Amino acid sequence: MMDDQSRLLSVKNLSTHFFSREGILAAVDGVSFEICRGEALGIAGESGCGKSVTAQSILRIVPSHGKIVDGEILFYQNGGAPVDLVSLDWKGKEIRKIRGKEIAMVFQEPMTGFSMAYTIGNQIMEVIRLHQQVNEAEARRRAIEILQRVGMPKPEQTIDAFPFALSGGMRQRAMIAMALSCNPSLLIADEPTTAVDVTIQAQVLELLKELQQEMGMAMMVITHDLAVISELCDRVMIMYLGKDVESAPASELFSNPKHPYTVGLLKSVPELGEGKSQEISPITGSVPSPYHRPGGCPFHTRCPAFIPNVCDLQAPPQVEVAKDHRVRCHLYVQE
Ligand code: SF4
Repeated sequence: MMDDQSRLLSVKNLSTHFFSREGILAAVDGVSFEICRGEALGIAGESGCGKSVTAQSILRIVPSHGKIVDGEILFYQNGGAPVDLVSLDWKGKEIRKIRGKEIAMVFQEPMTGFSMAYTIGNQIMEVIRLHQQVNEAEARRRAIEILQRVGMPKPEQTIDAFPFALSGGMRQRAMIAMALSCNPSLLIADEPTTAVDVTIQAQVLELLKELQQEMGMAMMVITHDLAVISELCDRVMIMYLGKDVESAPASELFSNPKHPYTVGLLKSVPELGEGKSQEISPITGSVPSPYHRPGGCPFHTRCPAFIPNVCDLQAPPQVEVAKDHRVRCHLYVQE
């Protein structure tokens, strides 16, 4: 059990819904997890499972037709009493002090994180000056230092480059530099390697890992790619249709997956070094429309272990199958 000193974020029963003419979409549906200081948590699942909306809820940047309808997001700042981020005005001073300074985000596509009209230096310096009492010259010095730290070539010159003039890999490094410029205690990386080509992916992962260890910050890595999790994370949470279906330390989850969805995800990716002869079996069917969510266990329409009249009727409770290893599946419910 985590103590209050090491606890950084505690999300309890979070539900974020979207309201539209098609109906109500429960993008995040009663999710709970914790992140301690210096720890890396990976959140994985197919597109539309609620990973990114979980991050948006933490930063309070949920799009306007969405709303946090239940739950708490407790953020433990500097050993003080926790702040419930859900209770803050999303446009207010308090959340703006936390967003970017205490909790920063690296977006999937760096083009969306930067304005094309300003140099990367201007944008990094703006973040620094928003959160720290320093003059322009000092902000520029710090921006060059952080660009150097993320391995940007010739940072004294690159600082004056516009985002569109950089390669995809360099833009992602600049985005990471901007996120790290205020030394956050939590970095949220949303699909950090999806928009860069394969040769750059390994470099970005290596960079994030190095920086996390060097700066002692916690990380929440959102990805559909389990290889990214195995590279970077201490713990994993698997999501399906807005539910946290399984969570465990990364080594435990990869060696002893319990939920049929996690087992399916692991079977659907090739293992490094296993050669071309290995069997890869994708999960059958596709994720149902979140507007027509199946009753009972949301995975029952695709599950090879489906128990008729149980899985389609009752939502499975969360069960602890081993220390810190929790699963929502009827197969593990003891009578
Ligand atoms: Fe499959 Fe039933 Fe477990 Fe859902 S509860 S994952 S349908 S066995």
